[in-house]
Amino acid sequence: MLTESVPTGPTEADWAAAVAAVRALPADARVLLICHVNPDGDALGSMLGFALGLRRLGARQLQATFPGPPEVPEPFRWLPGLDLLVPATGAYPDPDLVVCFDAASESRLGELVDRLDIDGPVLVLDHHASNTGFGDVHLVDPTAAATSVVAEELLARLDVPLDAEIAACLYVALTTDTGSFRFEATTPAVHQLAARLLATGIRPGDISRRVFDSRPFGAVRLFGEVLGRARLEPAAAAGHGLVWTYATLDDLARHDQRPYVLEALIDSVRCTAEADVAVVLKQVAADEWAVSMRSKGAVDVSRVAVALGGGGHRFAAGFTGRGGADDVAGRIRAELDGALITS
Ligand code: AMP
Ligand code: MN
Ligand code: MN
Repeated sequence: MLTESVPTGPTEADWAAAVAAVRALPADARVLLICHVNPDGDALGSMLGFALGLRRLGARQLQATFPGPPEVPEPFRWLPGLDLLVPATGAYPDPDLVVCFDAASESRLGELVDRLDIDGPVLVLDHHASNTGFGDVHLVDPTAAATSVVAEELLARLDVPLDAEIAACLYVALTTDTGSFRFEATTPAVHQLAARLLATGIRPGDISRRVFDSRPFGAVRLFGEVLGRARLEPAAAAGHGLVWTYATLDDLARHDQRPYVLEALIDSVRCTAEADVAVVLKQVAADEWAVSMRSKGAVDVSRVAVALGGGGHRFAAGFTGRGGADDVAGRIRAELDGALITS
């Protein structure tokens, strides 16, 4: 059983340190923006939106990158600022400033982790309660619905006005991490930020269609198969219920699909009314799975994730699982009772 700690966001001193670090840069300083591996809408959107803001401030040597293969998931391949992306292998080895987005721990930065060891400061913008505190200046707000909320506040404090390009990036980040404004973190402040972004003239219908409602037919068939093998375990999590399924590399190959299409799968699985916890195992190698977990409020899945080597938020978390799918599911099941939320 858990005792909840009260999350606190950045202090005025943290904000001032971040603003000072950016303002201290000469225009020819090399700035490297990084985000977590397998970047999602928040990682890419907050990073590129902030990068465009730095460009407006006059930064001339800007790079944005993420670990692993330099492949942007198709739904995000239209984002403004993609021209700033470089492969991790080509990123400045010794930049003057590093800004890190949406990564709760160094382990999420893969081969870019050595960029935390630079002479210049490392700014960390994040919203994971499980953030480990790496880096020099911490703008980590566990109450923020997305890292883009933190990024927008820093841009405002740097007097960068929002334009449609910055807004499109930040809007993608906000809508992906709030499940299109459905999740609990959707506060009045989230809607006020959305209003400021929409006021720049961006088109929410177009953006949502590209990001959420546009998949190849093969992905629809793949979902049918993977959902067809979902298992419901009503007794798990002390009777709150678990629903889970898995997708293999072979499933992807048979339907000729890229791994990113599986990111939306958890949303179809978590619809299950009979289960508080939903889990999707996405195979990444022979005995390795990227695990996504969601809860509707009875279980703190970040506890489960941390216990199994990952991290995340109370109601959305993940980890890398090793072994067979049934073994990984068994390890999750065993952690659920200890992660029940009592208050
Ligand atoms: P996902 O299920 O991939 O959408 O991730 C949900 C949440 O869990 C996000 O906030 C991620 O940052 C976090 N997360 C997912 N996978 C991992 C991992 N392997 N290690 C740490 N955190 C993770
Ligand atoms: Mn993320
Ligand atoms: Mn996020």
